[in-house]
Amino acid sequence: MPRPIPFTTFVVKVVSRCNLNCSYCYMYNLADRTYRDQPSSMDNAVTAALVRRIGGHAGRHGVPSVQVILHGGEPLLLGKKRLRAWVEQVRAGLAGQVDTLFSMQSNGVLLDAEWIDLLTELDVAVGISIDGPQRFHDRFRLDHKGHGTFDDTVRGIRELQQHPLGRRIFSSVLAVANTDIPPRELFDFWQFLDVPGFDLCLPHGNHANPPPPGAMPYGDWMIEFFDLWLDQNRPDRHVRYFDNMLRLLFGYPLSTDNIGGKPVGVVVVETDGSIEPTDAFKCCADGITKLGANVLRHEFDAAYAYPMIQTLQRGAPMLCATCQACELRDVCGGGYMPHRYSTERGFDNPSVYCADLEKLIRHIRRRTLAALGPEVLQTLGEPTH
Ligand code: SF4
Repeated sequence: MPRPIPFTTFVVKVVSRCNLNCSYCYMYNLADRTYRDQPSSMDNAVTAALVRRIGGHAGRHGVPSVQVILHGGEPLLLGKKRLRAWVEQVRAGLAGQVDTLFSMQSNGVLLDAEWIDLLTELDVAVGISIDGPQRFHDRFRLDHKGHGTFDDTVRGIRELQQHPLGRRIFSSVLAVANTDIPPRELFDFWQFLDVPGFDLCLPHGNHANPPPPGAMPYGDWMIEFFDLWLDQNRPDRHVRYFDNMLRLLFGYPLSTDNIGGKPVGVVVVETDGSIEPTDAFKCCADGITKLGANVLRHEFDAAYAYPMIQTLQRGAPMLCATCQACELRDVCGGGYMPHRYSTERGFDNPSVYCADLEKLIRHIRRRTLAALGPEVLQTLGEPTH
């Protein structure tokens, strides 16, 4: 067994409830139901243990900096006073041991000027989830009364953009790919939002719980969106999913959990202190993320003993035979591990999005090579015509 890689990204569930009830949410509305037994928020004892374990882990493994992502549910449900206390406790506890960057993923609905004052003061970067124009966003992203949340989300984004320091902590939105939205309409919506970064993620699904079929294949839809982005030719506008594919195509040693097949040092900590693998695994089966380790009793190194963490840690060598033999393996990496799951074979499968990923990667490769001159192509050993 190769040496485990240190954890450097800690996704921390500061709350386990949400003010929204999005129909595709892997936390509450797919295969997993364990949120029902989670404390609604992280208490001081768990936070203190978390700080101790992160500091110890960083020291043992010589990690110079870590990222702490405040997650939920909706992290703003913690409230301003408690969120300030939480960040200050973690920052003070880790000071002098490891550099700590804070960020959060929010639905943006609760954001107001006072929140933004606090988040800029605490230097917590914010990413906002929004799924596209109103008629699409409001189909899935509903509150608990069944009302759409588009207006409140856009209001939160505008609050961030209009705050004098807001752009310092806010630079990207995240959308779940919905092939019912014409790619051009989604692209124009991104320009309307006027946010530099746009991240796309494929809907969570796998061979046991297939993703929604949508109006067109995901690969074709992504290709259209990629072409719009590439042809816009604005280096200040980023789509992280495509940026990462381009980096991988050019051999950059990128470590991300959704493509590339490189070892990943991400771990999740639940409100009760449970140490878990990537939370998107909750789309696979009820209770699948429950390993038995907890920051109250265990160091993060204890997680290395669990097969799911080992698979994430070892990357490409743990892929199925089909992915091992695939010429795109080092770019695709078998896709996101939760998307490989089947009841019969666990994670020993290609991604449920295999055909889409293959088509998209080949297209990106073709378009990128077409933009290079014959001399560069010759150097790369690629055909020049
Ligand atoms: S394209 Fe398919 S077979 Fe190839 S690495 Fe990706 S998931 Fe595996």
